[in-house]
Amino acid sequence: MSEITGRCLCGGVSYQAKGPTVFVACHCRDCRYVSGGAPASILVAQTNGFALLSGADLIQSYTVAGESGHKVMREFCRSCGTPLFERLEILEPDAMLIKVGTVDNQDDLRVEATAWTKSAPAWATVDEHTELFEKNPADEFVGQLLASKAG
Ligand SMILES: [Zn+2]
Ligand SMILES: [Zn+2]
Repeated sequence: MSEITGRCLCGGVSYQAKGPTVFVACHCRDCRYVSGGAPASILVAQTNGFALLSGADLIQSYTVAGESGHKVMREFCRSCGTPLFERLEILEPDAMLIKVGTVDNQDDLRVEATAWTKSAPAWATVDEHTELFEKNPADEFVGQLLASKAG
C-alpha cells in the first residue's frame, strides 16, 4: 500500500492518496493546453483512497467532453492556477487522475503508459519503453494494473 501527498504551487490545496497508482503520460490536445507542454504527467489513483486535506474552496473545475463524449472535469487551484486533478465520467466512481506536478515526492515514480501517441507533436518525445496507446488506454489496462498492485 503506497501513499502520496501533494499540493498546488500556492499551497492552498493539499491532498493525500493511498493505494496503487498508474503513471500515464498523455499527449492529447486538451492535456497539452492544461499542462503547458507535452506530455501531461498523470497518476491514475483510486478514488476511495483519496482525501483532500485543505483548499476545497479554492478548487475550480472546467468540464469538457472527452473524445468518447463522456465528461472530463479538470480541476485547478483558482488562486495559483496549478492543474491538480481530473475526474473522468468514464472512470467514476472508481478512479480519478492526479497531476504528477503536484506530488511532493516524485523520485520513485516511473511512466508506465503513454496515451494519445497519435496526437503527440513532432517536437515531443514519446517514451517507447512504456505501454503505448494511440488514444486513451483501455479501461481494462488501467484497472488490471491497479488491481495487480493492490493485490
Ligand atoms: Zn494554489
Ligand atoms: Zn490527455
